Amino acid sequence: MEKFLSKAFALGFSEVVLLDDLSLDCTEEMRAYCDTCPNHGQNWVCPPNCGTLDECRERASEFNQGILVQSITELTPPTERDVYGRLGREHRLRFRELVEVVEPVVTAVLPLASGGCIFCEQCCFPEPCIKPEMKMESLSAFGVDVTALCEQAGLPFSFREDKVYFTALLLVK
Ligand code: SF4
Repeated sequence: MEKFLSKAFALGFSEVVLLDDLSLDCTEEMRAYCDTCPNHGQNWVCPPNCGTLDECRERASEFNQGILVQSITELTPPTERDVYGRLGREHRLRFRELVEVVEPVVTAVLPLASGGCIFCEQCCFPEPCIKPEMKMESLSAFGVDVTALCEQAGLPFSFREDKVYFTALLLVK
């Protein structure tokens, strides 16, 4: 697993932490935030199309190890909205690169990132996903408290005008 951590740093992540004995806490309270998001019902990785919380919880429970990564960027306010969008996209493309390194040499992976899936100009929902091998699930849709997860890993987490932390979790078995 150590070589994956080195590779994640080499890809450009600011922080990389291996979480052993992980039991991901998927809560109704966190999932409820999805109800007010404009992406709700618009793609395959947001509720309700990603499956019920119980179904997400069951998928996550098959894994007890994860690689938590962060892309941290210092900004000079005022920060244009599209800067956050660009940084978030770069973070998820970097995460995709990590998945491609890890997936071939382990039994299974479940990539969880912030926000919706970005691998199509527009998600083809409700038609079947056209890139299932690239699809990336959502931490929020799985009811994960990202702040608590980062705390567990000993990492700070916030979303400020002058410093943003994009986070993702690669579940591995
Ligand atoms: S890969 Fe494309 S079609 Fe599939 S969930 Fe992601 S955005 Fe939607």
